Amino acid sequence: MNQIARALLGGEICPPAPWPASWTLLGADDTPPATPPWLAPPGQPLDLVLPDRRLRVIARASAQPEGVVLTLLDLEEQRAIAARLQESEDRYRSLTELISDYAYELTVDNQGRLVPYWVTDAFQRVTGFHIEEMLAQGGLKSIVLAADHGVLRRHIRAVMGGHAHACELRIKTRGGAVRWIRDYARPIFDEQGGRVVGVLGASRDITEEKLLNPLTGLPNLAAFQDRLGVAIERLARDPRSSLSVLYVDFDHFHVFNHSLGWAAGDTLLRTLGQRLREAVRPGDTVAHLRGDEFAVLLTELPNPTDAIRMTEALLSAISAPVELAGTEVTPSASVGVAFARGHHEQVSDLLQAAQTALSRARSRGGGRYEVYDPAMFRASLARLRKESALRAALSRGDFPVFYQPIVSLSDGALSGFEALVRWRDPERGLVGPQQFVPLAERTGLIVDIGGAVLLAACQQLAAWSAEVPAARSLAVSVNVSPQQLHEDSLIEHIDAALAASGVAPERLQLEITETALVEGPEANVDRVARLKERGVRVGLDDFGTGYSSLSWLQVFPVDTLKVDRSFIRELDGPSGDAGIVGTIVALARHLGLVVVAEGIETADQRRVVEALGCEFAQGFLFARPLPAEAATALVRRWPRW
Ligand code: C2E
Ligand code: MG
Ligand code: MG
Repeated sequence: MNQIARALLGGEICPPAPWPASWTLLGADDTPPATPPWLAPPGQPLDLVLPDRRLRVIARASAQPEGVVLTLLDLEEQRAIAARLQESEDRYRSLTELISDYAYELTVDNQGRLVPYWVTDAFQRVTGFHIEEMLAQGGLKSIVLAADHGVLRRHIRAVMGGHAHACELRIKTRGGAVRWIRDYARPIFDEQGGRVVGVLGASRDITEEKLLNPLTGLPNLAAFQDRLGVAIERLARDPRSSLSVLYVDFDHFHVFNHSLGWAAGDTLLRTLGQRLREAVRPGDTVAHLRGDEFAVLLTELPNPTDAIRMTEALLSAISAPVELAGTEVTPSASVGVAFARGHHEQVSDLLQAAQTALSRARSRGGGRYEVYDPAMFRASLARLRKESALRAALSRGDFPVFYQPIVSLSDGALSGFEALVRWRDPERGLVGPQQFVPLAERTGLIVDIGGAVLLAACQQLAAWSAEVPAARSLAVSVNVSPQQLHEDSLIEHIDAALAASGVAPERLQLEITETALVEGPEANVDRVARLKERGVRVGLDDFGTGYSSLSWLQVFPVDTLKVDRSFIRELDGPSGDAGIVGTIVALARHLGLVVVAEGIETADQRRVVEALGCEFAQGFLFARPLPAEAATALVRRWPRW
């Protein structure tokens, strides 16, 4: 009985012992067992029901003394302990959830691996993965960025070595976003306190605090660098997009700080951050880098001048007076501006450039901005001015056409003219095409300028023909840019010019460069074919400088080859090398094309090209490009060269 009493207190009893009548033994499904507990196979659950409680009987064979040891467990008490444990665990978890986003416990399995024992639901909210799913794909390591694997390894090593340890690492969530996690973990020791049998940990998503400046709540340097990197990548995909970095630094900020106190200084910084934010567009980034330094990232502004306009607006927004600690202060800032020139730019280079410009602004007294590469900025400003000047010229019709005679070498007679456009700039006077055609091409203005040239040239030809009978045999050549060739409007412009002037299509020749033909879209073959259908002639300009490929000549049915001026110049060399011109002439003959030698300046050159078999020539030897009136006088005179 004493032994049984001891058993009730959690000890063991050694049956057989006097067995009170009020005690019943119950097996599974609450029926008396077939065999007494000391004979029942181990592991089979038996309950001993006493008048006031129920005990779990666990039988175990004993060798010394031989017999069976029964362990009696008070189930009520066990349940109470479990409930208390659960309660304290819940409390622990909710506590850890207060200070962390998710908490977890790991145990060391019998192969020495760390496996999750439990983890709070928030794990999935933070990472996007269910714990089982993450385990299936290789555990925590599979979602930690490779760059932070070392951090994770050191963290685990420290905790398994028996120390509490914290670390910060980046994970990639299921959605692909990178988040910063701060993990705090401590070891769980076995009862003897020697061996680490588990890990208790809590993690917090610190992405925001990693990327935001705690004072202003604006993105910090790391976040700014990140966004700048993304913007540079976008520049690679869309070269028309733009990117400017403004580095903003407040003038004499330390004076405010010292005279009004740190708290007032902080308030001022918050106000200034707010003002910067309000001065830019919602999609722009305003970052608080450190101290009184801010940075702004502007994208998708069509012109650098727009960025400058925003910088000026920003400077004036900043300098409005602020009420601080009972005093009114007027802040001012210096700004350094840097423009990305291309996607090859590095984040650090751009920030550095903006910073360099900033120090210049500061050294010039502050309260102003400076552009990192003023030469580049001036160039883009000049380009912009020129572009709007070209637009204005187009609306005023300030593109006079000059005409340069093309001479038939066999008889020295005038065979036609090449129409060469000029720009009458109110400031600079007459400007040659090399100075503005490239810009007109880049901006698409060439389409309308070219249309005007076509019309003027056809009308001029009609006027000469009406006045001078011999001029009815003349042709006019008009240069066509790749951009014109790529647009359907070219055909419309040609039709309109022919219709308005009444000039026969075969008297109009279009000069296209090889490069424009070959590098243009497939549709070019089609367009050239449509031009030819109309009876318009097509010549290849500057022949020899581009692809000069025979196969292209077969694809594009051209009528004329214009040998480039550079080959004509070579004819004067000591060797008198006629090689290339000779080859081109032979090639043209073979294909049944007419050859025009361009840039003939001397009688010698004329002789050589004539001897080589060129039928036509053009150059200063005969006449420079002439204004319409001078060309008209020439037609009236009808010279022979
Ligand atoms: P291009 O079509 O090869 O025109 C011939 C150029 O060579 C003209 O220059 C002409 O003045 C110059 N030239 C003619 N003979 C001689 C010579 O003996 N010696 C030297 N040194 N030069 C000579 P320009 O007028 O300055 O035109 C330059 C280029 O501008 C043209 O080259 C053409 O590609 C382009 N261009 C001219 N007018 C137009 C136009 O209306 N539309 C388009 N898209 N391009 C045009
Ligand atoms: Mg030409
Ligand atoms: Mg040419």
